[in-house]
Amino acid sequence: MTDLVVAQKEGLYCVPGQFHIDPWQPVDRAVITHAHADHARPGHGRYLAAAAGAAILKARLGNIHLETLAYGERIIHNGVTLSFHPAGHVLGSSQVRLEYRGEVWVASGDYKMEADPTCDAFEPLPCHTFITESTFGLPIYRWQPQRVILDEVNDWWRSNAAEGRASVLFCYALGKAQRILSGVDSTIGAIVCHGATEALNRTYRQCGIALPPTSGVSDMRGKPDFRGALVLAPPAAGGTPWMRRFGEYGDAFASGWMLLRGARRRRAIDRGFILSDHADWPGLMRAIKATGASRVIVTHGHVDIMVRWLQENGLQAEAFSTEYGMEESDNAAINESIAFKESHA
Ligand SMILES: [Zn+2]
Ligand SMILES: [Zn+2]
Repeated sequence: MTDLVVAQKEGLYCVPGQFHIDPWQPVDRAVITHAHADHARPGHGRYLAAAAGAAILKARLGNIHLETLAYGERIIHNGVTLSFHPAGHVLGSSQVRLEYRGEVWVASGDYKMEADPTCDAFEPLPCHTFITESTFGLPIYRWQPQRVILDEVNDWWRSNAAEGRASVLFCYALGKAQRILSGVDSTIGAIVCHGATEALNRTYRQCGIALPPTSGVSDMRGKPDFRGALVLAPPAAGGTPWMRRFGEYGDAFASGWMLLRGARRRRAIDRGFILSDHADWPGLMRAIKATGASRVIVTHGHVDIMVRWLQENGLQAEAFSTEYGMEESDNAAINESIAFKESHA
């Protein structure tokens, strides 16, 4: 039997189903795992996604032709049974389960294994073939529990506040920011967010996710006093005139890439908090094992190393070349902001 999913120039393609998964070029039918920009792109004819992610997808892509399914709900399209299951990555993120003539494939999109109060937990799905990301697919990537990291964030914020400074924390507007908000101690001071982040906070709240009170920077009247405040901003805001309003501040970056010392030094920030919405190496291994898949296809990240490691461990492993990880990846954002700082130096 030919493969259920193949890599085409437009994106991953389900052959009998005649639809694409997270395509990077415009197609007729796009099945979307989550709303990050490298997975959910504009310009497709029809979109199908998990209902839990619908509000975010619409916030990002505007008025698209979107149909949704509840997690676990099945539809049959051209003989392929399709369902979405939580991926634990950001609110509404899904794995796509495909079944055709007794053969089961799961495309994971992006995922993480640690429980996150802002989204449903990763659901291991038995399958024959598992398509996995490998953003942090190197044995050096091992995360500490998020509580440990969020306590470090609170300590850093508290000490800045005690000295009358703002604390500017760079983090992705979708997912990372809300995960941080759900775990910080809002009694330390006010929490202020960049407009892009604040818009997504509103969407998360509309979806029933509890977050502490926040204000959008541009919604604040008069001459706001940011001393003692926690400011969440997307990485691209770093080094721009937007930052001037905060007066004296300490800055930090929350990302899995902060495990790499050079990433923090190059960015010239005070602190790096190692917090990722992707699985670490043990998480990837655990997820792959839990599927029971005998065949694994690796998409974006440390593809070659993962493929070799899986082969050495008795699995049939190969790679799909994709265009994921271009916009969302922490590395891309860090490089972008370094380039920005250099060109404005
Ligand atoms: Zn993602
Ligand atoms: Zn991704």
